[in-house]
Order: sequence, then C-alpha cells, then structure tokens
Amino acid sequence: MRDLWESREALARGEIALDYILDELYKNIEKREPVIHAFLSLAEKEELGTKAKEKQNALLLGLPIAIKDNICTLDFPTTCGSRLLANYRSPFEATAVARLRAAGGQVQGKTNLDEFAMGSSTEHSAFGPTRNPWDPERVPGGSSGGSAAAVAAGEALAALGSDTGGSVRQPAALCGVVGLRPTYGLVSRFGLVAFASSLDTIGPITRTVRDAALILSIIAGHDPRDSTSLTFPPQDYWTDLRPKLAGLRLGLPREYAPKELGEEALALIDRWSTVAEELGAQVLEISLPLTEYALPAYYLIASAEASANLARYDGVRYTLRILAPGVAEMIAQSRTLGFGPEVKRRIALGTFALSAGYYDQYYGKAQRVRTLIAQEFQSAFEKVDLIFGPTSPTPAFRLGEKADPLSMYLSDLFTIPSALAGLPAISIPGGTIEGLPFGLQLIGPRLSERTLLAAAWAFEEALR
Ligand code: GLN
Repeated sequence: MRDLWESREALARGEIALDYILDELYKNIEKREPVIHAFLSLAEKEELGTKAKEKQNALLLGLPIAIKDNICTLDFPTTCGSRLLANYRSPFEATAVARLRAAGGQVQGKTNLDEFAMGSSTEHSAFGPTRNPWDPERVPGGSSGGSAAAVAAGEALAALGSDTGGSVRQPAALCGVVGLRPTYGLVSRFGLVAFASSLDTIGPITRTVRDAALILSIIAGHDPRDSTSLTFPPQDYWTDLRPKLAGLRLGLPREYAPKELGEEALALIDRWSTVAEELGAQVLEISLPLTEYALPAYYLIASAEASANLARYDGVRYTLRILAPGVAEMIAQSRTLGFGPEVKRRIALGTFALSAGYYDQYYGKAQRVRTLIAQEFQSAFEKVDLIFGPTSPTPAFRLGEKADPLSMYLSDLFTIPSALAGLPAISIPGGTIEGLPFGLQLIGPRLSERTLLAAAWAFEEALR
C-alpha cells in the first residue's frame, strides 16, 4: 500500500484519483474495522471526496488523516475515550489539526484511545478496546492504539497520536508502524486535551519515516496559544531529508538491553547494531543508570498533573451530569460514574502525592529525579549522537493479559525516560518476534529531529 507521500505524488501526477485511494481505505475499513475498532467516529467516504475538491492546490490534496480522539476537531466529538465526554464537541480546533487542514489534509475520523490517554493497551477506553491488526487476540498498545491500528490495518494513510510517556511510540511498535514523539514544545499542545501538561506532545503515526517527517514539517512551529511552545524558527524536516547513518555515533544503553528481554529480542538488537555499523555508524555501549527511577518519577509527576488537569470535569462544564441533591453530590456522582478505574487510580495517586505535607516527599522528589535523568541524557549526548534500543520490552500482549497496573506500566519502561527529559524519539519496525512486530527506538538530543529522522530512514531501508 502507498504511504501518504506516494499517494500525494500519484495524485499530483494524475496517475490515480482520490476516489481510488479512498476506495482502498474504505474497503479495508469495511473488512477489518468491525474487529479492529480503531475509530470512534469516521467521515463518510463520499464527503471526503467532495471536500477534497476545494483542496486541489494544497500540498496534501485533500488526503485524509486520522486523529486521536483527545485532539480537538470541529467536525466530530472529542471524547478522550471517556464516558464523561461521550457527547463533547469542541468549539475550537487543535493547532496541529488546523495546520494539517491548511496544508490540504482532511480529518478522516477520530481514533480510539485509553481513557484520557492513560494506558498502554487501549483496553481502558470506555467504548471498548481496539485490537491489533496482526492478531486480533492482542492489544495494539496504547494509548494511541486506534491511530496505530488504523494505519497498520490500511484503514488510514497516516494519523496523529499523543505521547506523554510513550503513547505514540509504544503502539507504533506493537502495530509495526512508525511513531514519532517530537521535542517537547515543538508541536503546539493547543487543543490537545491535557493529561500531564509538562509531558504531553502530539506526534505522527505513519507507514514510513518519510511520512512522519512530512507531517512533522506541517504541524511543528511556534503557537502563541501554547505557553510552552518553543520560539524556534520553523524548520523543514522533510524536503531534502535523506537516509543517513554514516558517521554517527550510536549509543546502546546497557539498561535498554537487559537479559530479561529474552534471546529473540536480544538477537534483534544485535542485528540493529550490525546494520548500523554496515551503514557506517559507530556503535558504543553506554549506561543510563537512572533508568530504573524513571517509572516511579513519571507515575508521580504524570498523576499529580493529571489530578489537577482533570479537576475541570465537574459535571457542570463539558460533560456528563448526574443530577443529585446538592452541588457537591452532583460533582461526586458525575465523576464517579464518568471516569473509569484507571483514571480514578491516577487521580487518587496524584491527589495524594500533592497533599499538604507530602508534596516535597513525593512530587518534589520526583521532579528532582526528573532533572537528574535529563542531565544523564545530556552527558550521554556528549559521547554519542543518538541512542537506540527497543521501544517496548515485548511485542503485543494479549487482551486482558496485563491485569495488574504495574505490569501494564512496565511496557513503557523504555519510552518514559526520554519523555521525562523532553527529548525527541521515534519508533520504527525493527523486525518480528514470533510473527509479531518489535519496535526499534531512536532517541536524540532536543531539536535533533532532522538527524533522528535521517537515521531512522536509513534503518528502515536496511531492515525492510
Ligand atoms: N502508558 C503511559 C501512561 O499510562 C503513557 C501514556 C501516554 O503517553 N499518554 O501514562
């Protein structure tokens, strides 16, 4: 199947019509969507075809992009996978979506996710799980599981996801597609429903590295409506991008290749090292000893921020309202019925961590650990240009397999440290284990997206 860019090129050359591309996508949707359940809402094929006619001079020529349902769009509800927002319609559109539209893209529909993006399997959606296109008994990863599954199943050409601690990269890895988490602040968070504001990012999930670069070029750039948006001159990540690993020093952290990963995963990691060396890179073993503290620090910081961000769902604004005698009772009942168990767990943990007397012991300490982790990456990047390793410790697991929260949290072991440090990172298909995709992750210094994408592209070509 063509990627987004090839589709655009074939359209521009008049080799195929948009209707043909839409037919292909919607045939896959008809065939696979009843099992996969990647979308929570979906545009009519005919409507996309009609609206594309107004976009004939723009870069993307009316091609559809699927959008994770915690990113606000005008033409569909934005539910965040929550009962509480089941009918919520945003009065404004996220900057990333507005930029895609301005570049000639269209919103194909909204994709399924773990409620408020909290999870790693898309099983925490209030609207039922998404299934992995490689094996419907398995999860697609999460929280952007709908976006990754839609692209992997050929139901979408490309998608947007959000990555707070791994939610673009981990589902991309488990579904065998590409997922890019940009440097924190490079893509506007305006219109992304807040989970943990100091960690939240929007990133593309695509079939190819080149498509991730194309979408990044469109959605990146300063936005005065996001106070953490970087004032960094707009960059083109794409036009003259070429695959390149030659001359790079690549660090493989010992902590990202522990024995516990198993022989097959370790063999793939060896293969990646060999491929990199064959392409002219130098592979160095490095150590990031603070890796083991990233998970506890993340779950304190992310939950603390979530407990504050989710306080706005009070049954009055936005949302599901359960009528009860008295305001306090109405708020309590609306939240009790509206939020699922994982969201409640995070709110409880975050509220406790922030409570008087505990603030410094938990949140303050976690913030200090976060600073140390960022410094550890910074010193590593004095010795190497990029870091690589697996995206997630295992390929896709079975639905229901990770019933206790901690075992679920562990699937983000390798994506959380770089998220805490605000670094860009990409997951690309790195091979298979027992017939299931296993993701290769590359992590770079802040704003190193061009180097990162060029290296990922070289790996992609070599590993295809
Ligand atoms: N799985 C992680 C969590 O549950 C990361 C989620 C995300 O990046 N949105 O918090």
